[in-house]
Amino acid sequence: MRIAEPTVERLVQYIRFLERCRESGKRVVSSQEIGDALGIKASQVRKDLSYFGEIGKRGVGYNVEKLYQHLNSIFAPPKTWKIAMIGVGNLGEALLGYKAFESEKFRIVALFDIDPNKIGRKIHGIHCYDVEEMSKVLNEEGVEVLIITTPASAAQDVVDRATSSAPIKGILNFAPTALVVPEHVILYNVDIFIELEKLLFYIKLKERGGNI
Ligand code: ATP
Repeated sequence: MRIAEPTVERLVQYIRFLERCRESGKRVVSSQEIGDALGIKASQVRKDLSYFGEIGKRGVGYNVEKLYQHLNSIFAPPKTWKIAMIGVGNLGEALLGYKAFESEKFRIVALFDIDPNKIGRKIHGIHCYDVEEMSKVLNEEGVEVLIITTPASAAQDVVDRATSSAPIKGILNFAPTALVVPEHVILYNVDIFIELEKLLFYIKLKERGGNI
């Protein structure tokens, strides 16, 4: 089943909203409430949710717990994904310290760097290895996902080395460079500058009344 990216993003938002409902003890929620909280049309919410089978009753709303479990099962198989981070500089460390990054769905099990001041140390409680040990550690730990936070100039090389020597399935790349990965690997780029440029572009467009 192919799901468009904006749909996936909305589903993630639904899960987050349902988490908040659970925490506050709310048992039932309507598509209208979900839509209002997230700035999404109720009809869109209903459409998204019905896509995965009928889980709400018309006029009654959705059972928070059931919907939460259901949506979660689409995203996270019942296992904890093991992740390794390569390049623990300012950005990498910031991500490791980011609370929203704590989840039962994944765990960062190893860090890699070339900096002797970082190698052998624990950073945010996670061991930092010499990048030369990458192949061995990735295989021993069963790492399937990489987060790349090296400088752009080092990213392709570390990715080549990791993907050719360990069963890596996905890469979240924060290095501001276009990476080439083997066909079996899913690559996702997070480039904050591109996002900011996009935002500024649309602000400008809006100011000009839609004309470039
Ligand atoms: P810092 O000042 O701590 O190095 P930074 O974010 O300014 O932080 P960057 O130059 O962006 O540093 O590098 C990010 C991290 O990637 C650093 O910790 C650096 O040591 C590490 N790094 C650089 N090259 C490699 C490489 N080939 N393999 C693994 N890590 C690397």
